[in-house]
Amino acid sequence: MKAAVLHEARQPLRIEELEIPDVGDEDVLIKVAACGVCHTDLKVVEGRNRFTPPTILGHEVAGTLEQVGARCQDFKVGDRVIIGMRYKCGRCRYCLTARENLCERRPAPPALRKPDGTSVSRWNVGGFAEYVSVPGYMVFRIPREMPMEEASIVGCRVTTAYNAVKHRGRLEPGDSALVIGCGGIGLNTIQFLRCFGAYPIIAVDIVDDKLEAAKKFGATHTINATVVDPVQETRKLTDGGVDKAFEAIGNPKTSDQIIQATRPGGTATIIGGLGNGPFTISSGRFVTSEITITGVSSRQAHDVEEVFQMAKAGRIELKSLITKTYRYDEINEALADLEHGKLRMGISLWN
Ligand SMILES: [Zn+2]
Ligand SMILES: [Zn+2]
Repeated sequence: MKAAVLHEARQPLRIEELEIPDVGDEDVLIKVAACGVCHTDLKVVEGRNRFTPPTILGHEVAGTLEQVGARCQDFKVGDRVIIGMRYKCGRCRYCLTARENLCERRPAPPALRKPDGTSVSRWNVGGFAEYVSVPGYMVFRIPREMPMEEASIVGCRVTTAYNAVKHRGRLEPGDSALVIGCGGIGLNTIQFLRCFGAYPIIAVDIVDDKLEAAKKFGATHTINATVVDPVQETRKLTDGGVDKAFEAIGNPKTSDQIIQATRPGGTATIIGGLGNGPFTISSGRFVTSEITITGVSSRQAHDVEEVFQMAKAGRIELKSLITKTYRYDEINEALADLEHGKLRMGISLWN
């Protein structure tokens, strides 16, 4: 099978030939139709996330089941599925309390083999490939009417935003909300805020096109941060700060800004990955203001089903999130477009 292999950070991926992965009794083999190109993949290419070279990126996988292990009775060959959960140990305190997104002893996915016998690791699940094998607990059936491209992004960016709004921000109807960063995650956060009854929904970015898109997904007010200070403007619009603020970039400065723009008793949720580096909070006011600062790790298993139901019912928009699809051998172009801010969401097609 073909797969896009990363040998070194900041180098293009190379399309190479690998053996089709083994399928154990607990596993399913997916013939990949579409795999989203997520910012997390880009961070690995840029060397900001660690990896074991050579490796295969890609984790927003949608495809058709080609083989089903003996102990995966819930599925049959031909089922259309996405990968919605990550590997889990199944025994730590988080796995035992349905918080497997926080698993402490997450196993590494088995490596793949090249025809010459050398091995290639998989970062997350290794979705930039013609076939992917994963345990059956990681896959979810796609609603019949939903195209593969739309379903694929539910596997990461859409459901991560849902987790942020529902579980981490604990949004309540009437809460005022702020979202800094109107890329894929930010637009999804905005559309879930609309579904959950937030008002106002203030969107911040430095690109006017992205702010226009934010309005279509439900933002009631927009701020271009190159023109107006987003913290001062948000405080002005909401008489002192929002109930719930979200950072959807993974940037230390904007992470601090959402904390400064949150009202006493509110919650600031950082969705973008900040890595392990230090990060400065410019005012300790959050302590006596009882502001909660929290983060987001992927999603809980039932979030995937809930998001599929909402998409089926037309409560959220998936199609217009996807700005471009790429053939599998255009994967480097997709990553470059993402890096240069040309994409809302891009999808690579594999079969
Ligand atoms: Zn992702
Ligand atoms: Zn675990």
